[in-house]
Amino acid sequence: MPPLVYRLDATQPASHRLGVELDLDLDALRAAGSLAGEELLLFLPTWTPGSYLIREYSRQLSRVEASGADGAILPCVKVAKNRFRIATPAGARTVRIRYQVYARELSVRTADVTAEHAYWNHACVLLWPVAARRLAVQLTVQHPPEWRLACALGQLHTPLATPGSVTLMAHDLDEVLDSPILIGDFEQIEWQVAGVTHRIVLDGLGGVRPPETLIADLTRIIERAAAVFGGALPYRDYTFLCLFAAEGHGGLEHAASTTLLMARTALSDAKQYREFLGLAAHEHFHAWNVKRMRPVEFWDYDYENENYSSLLWLVEGWTAYYDDLLCHRAGLLTREDYLAVMAKNVNTMLTGPGRLRLSLAESSFDAWIRLYRPDENTRNSSQNYYGNGAVAALCLDLMIRRTTRGAASLDDVLRRLYDHTFGQGRGYTREDVADAVRSVAGVEVVRAHAALVDGALDPDLAALLGDFGIRVRALENPKPYFGVSFNSGSTTVASVTLDSPADRAGIAPGDECIAVAGLRVDSSNWNDVFAAVARCGVAIEVLLARRGVITRLFVTPGATMPGVAFEILDVATTEQQHLRDLWLVPPTK
Ligand SMILES: [Zn+2]
Repeated sequence: MPPLVYRLDATQPASHRLGVELDLDLDALRAAGSLAGEELLLFLPTWTPGSYLIREYSRQLSRVEASGADGAILPCVKVAKNRFRIATPAGARTVRIRYQVYARELSVRTADVTAEHAYWNHACVLLWPVAARRLAVQLTVQHPPEWRLACALGQLHTPLATPGSVTLMAHDLDEVLDSPILIGDFEQIEWQVAGVTHRIVLDGLGGVRPPETLIADLTRIIERAAAVFGGALPYRDYTFLCLFAAEGHGGLEHAASTTLLMARTALSDAKQYREFLGLAAHEHFHAWNVKRMRPVEFWDYDYENENYSSLLWLVEGWTAYYDDLLCHRAGLLTREDYLAVMAKNVNTMLTGPGRLRLSLAESSFDAWIRLYRPDENTRNSSQNYYGNGAVAALCLDLMIRRTTRGAASLDDVLRRLYDHTFGQGRGYTREDVADAVRSVAGVEVVRAHAALVDGALDPDLAALLGDFGIRVRALENPKPYFGVSFNSGSTTVASVTLDSPADRAGIAPGDECIAVAGLRVDSSNWNDVFAAVARCGVAIEVLLARRGVITRLFVTPGATMPGVAFEILDVATTEQQHLRDLWLVPPTK
């Protein structure tokens, strides 16, 4: 038997409770050097890799008890928010731990056990011995017999298999924490790509039928992703765990699976389906970018504390750049539609003042306290390394292609970084990234790219795209601009954009806008009333309720910052066309 044997009882899912029983082989722990004297120290992770926020999963643990081989209760003391200390009798060879986990939080990174399904990340569930991450583990999961189980972990097949009981094996803590489990009455489709088994599990779709082209579309995305890294798939098999629900949206990457959470109607129309494919492409690309090739700070995760990295603009930004690009390369997004998606990223970037104040590298480092804990000032003080990181990746790709006259691209940098770091059994540093860029495109590109990542993000896209025969056109936008966002369903100010008309007039988060130019406003008529009374450069009266006091201010609306659109020039030089056709798939004639 492996040194850690868990039994997880999910047979009463409507209770939202998982029962956990863990048998620990103390001899194996002693041999691994992870038993201090006769004291056993166990911990529960505080976060899930890929989602950079301390989430304090131990809040949901209860009735933690320990007993010896003879069944006698052993002292078990909570010594930290997520740690328990158990005094084991001298020479004892086994200890049994029992506890319960409350699980009713539906997100890709948490645990949700309900009458409809059971889904969990093991970070929320498994107490694990401190300093023993390399120990092998066996997990037996018991569940309602009419349900099925999906998980990337290998199953132990025994001749006496019973319905409603599945035994899984993992090599170590990293593998088990990276392998969420979904149990339920779901649909599952299995198919092969390049001889490798892929599965998609569809949970909660109700009456919605997936598109006929689902498997063909995913296959094309998978093939294009593999091509970036030389053609081979890096896993033994791969599972898309899809949770369709009334609320929530997102994805979480794993080495051999991903969880995608989206609306129950996400596969029902063309626009939502396109977004689903983009999300699937994003998480699948992470199988290389971050699950294997990853910053040195993530090489051995510390599951109890923040793991700081200044490289999330590469981890997430480059992945966000490739998710749309791979859909385009796979023929699922036309050249024009792809450029429209990129222009949308750029327009979002342009409206965020934080990009000029906190660099992509600094915003990456601060993910734990900014991106994952947004407040009224986040947009003004930092930037989103997903969308803005994708814009920086676009710039880098274009610079590489321009400098090498189309001979190389960001694909070559990724492949080189992958081979030279993960391929050699190590994480990468910023210097490794610079080395990869330098070897592909030279030192000038390294310098220009560093300026985008380490300073204010304000790229000259018109010049860059111009060399590819693409024009950046400013959209005409005559609308007067106020500069606030409201809490949903109200006219209470959620945030004020730095240096906007509202900011200059002294409007603050929490102010409730009651009237504009003497007209009563609420969430249903704000846009209409503001458009009717506001003129650029002309002050208007705004009546506010602020912390219980009625206040009058005068705001002078400005012109909205014009957005941009990307247009393919009909008349381009041969060089421009050459570069463009290597970057974007030309339409078939
Ligand atoms: Zn991601």
